[in-house]
Amino acid sequence: MRFLVVDALARASGSRYTSFDVVGAGPRIVAGIIHEAGYDTKLLSYELFMKESNLEQYDIVMVSIMSSDKGTLKRIINKLEEKNFKGILIVGGPASFEYNVLLQEYSRIDYVMVGEGEIPLESILKNPQILFDKDPKQLSNIPALAYRNEDTIYLTSQHIHTPAEKLSSIRPWTNIRVSYENYRVHRYYVEVLRGCSNYQRPMITGYPGLNCTRCFLCKSPDMEKRLVCPANIPPGCGFCSVPYMFGPARSRSIDSIVEEIKELIKNGARRIVLSAPDFLDYGRDWLVKPKPLTNPCDPPTNIEAIDQLLGEIYDLSSVKNGIVRVFVENIKACLVDDKVASLLGKYLKGTTVHIGLETGDNWFNEYVLGKPIFKEHVIRAVKLLSKHGLRPYVYLIYGLPFMNRKTYLETIKTVKELSSLGVEKITLYKYVKLPGTAFRNIDFGIEGFEDLVSKLKNVVYRVNVNKKKFFIGKKLRVYLVYSNGKYYGYPVDHGPVVFVKGVNKPGYSNCLALVEIYDVGPRNLWGRLIDIIEC
Ligand code: SF4
Repeated sequence: MRFLVVDALARASGSRYTSFDVVGAGPRIVAGIIHEAGYDTKLLSYELFMKESNLEQYDIVMVSIMSSDKGTLKRIINKLEEKNFKGILIVGGPASFEYNVLLQEYSRIDYVMVGEGEIPLESILKNPQILFDKDPKQLSNIPALAYRNEDTIYLTSQHIHTPAEKLSSIRPWTNIRVSYENYRVHRYYVEVLRGCSNYQRPMITGYPGLNCTRCFLCKSPDMEKRLVCPANIPPGCGFCSVPYMFGPARSRSIDSIVEEIKELIKNGARRIVLSAPDFLDYGRDWLVKPKPLTNPCDPPTNIEAIDQLLGEIYDLSSVKNGIVRVFVENIKACLVDDKVASLLGKYLKGTTVHIGLETGDNWFNEYVLGKPIFKEHVIRAVKLLSKHGLRPYVYLIYGLPFMNRKTYLETIKTVKELSSLGVEKITLYKYVKLPGTAFRNIDFGIEGFEDLVSKLKNVVYRVNVNKKKFFIGKKLRVYLVYSNGKYYGYPVDHGPVVFVKGVNKPGYSNCLALVEIYDVGPRNLWGRLIDIIEC
């Protein structure tokens, strides 16, 4: 039985719309589990999949996508049909929660694996023939599997949150040379923990699906009581599906993380992102065990666990000598104090770190979003992190349900305050409704606030361009990628993509180069090649 896993995450309608150098953890985990179970396995990025001619050799193709990647899924299905693929097609990833839509709209899909893949996959791998036989009785033994039988769609069980011990026992796929073009350029996301510690909810009444009874269970000091809302409001920030899809935060063991990083480096990885909805949740779950970690701000950061994890990663020789760069992804501002910022600075100086604020209106964040993180937390975190040598990026969102003039005005004021501090970039997202969230039924809307939204966009634009001017005259080390006759440079320490001038002939993709920045754009930098350091 031959398996092909296709990483089509964030490919939208066939090409990446943002973060071209990101390789998510999910498809590597799925491919790793299948490979470890002894099956003939291959993981291909969407781009390499589209170049693969010999698709009839595979028995089962598994595609990982997000909700926004349905255009890419269509292209994958077309290609499979063109190549006469007769095997089983399974779709997974964050889009799997829309299994009804997927199975209704794409008749070629055989199954959707809903939510986290480890437990359903384990059942499938015991006897993959079940997928071909399509006997409902046998299929019912595989949890969280959706399929179509005649005109009806079935789901064998609710999705399952993989226990922490299992997360630590997995060996994700690390053979990146066969899976990704320009494998040295990418930032490989290594999952250090799964799930989110915020189980507060939007405390809203009088809206379909949002009927908070003010029982305050989601603010209870008892972590377990926060799990269930009597009004059935999904947990976490109203716009975010992570707690519903992935459950409370669970950390992987240090050994399993370090082992995975070692293998990735052995196979050519040069940039590793320690991936987590909040890196500072790492090991906090161990402090409240056996209760689940459902409070985003208490207990405080587990400094010892993080120090030990980063210490062991920085003991690896290529990390210690700077050949491989390590980053953290997101952190929650309420967990940052001077000790935490100093610890992060000790290992991660010069790298970026992302902080979610969403709006500058504290009341809105707490009661409408269900996010007990305020602008004062973020201002303090930005100050401390930049003092210790990190480069903070802050996230905001516009068009959220229930935003009003006050929310927009407070947010604009906060952007101005942040601009005078050490923030390097403010990322302003447009709200998109997602399944599995409290706001799942509410569309994006800015009616009546168009003037404030455009003011907010202008302020953010000005801050970002001004901050980027800091790069002019600086020399940066970048990894080169050649595409459509141009070179793009991905900074070793992360940051805006550099459009590289001064090298025209192909052949330098994957090379490390030194460039000097001479101009900035709203999203990118312009740089001249000074030297090719290493190929
Ligand atoms: S959101 Fe749910 S758990 Fe929280 S206070 Fe309201 S009803 Fe209670």
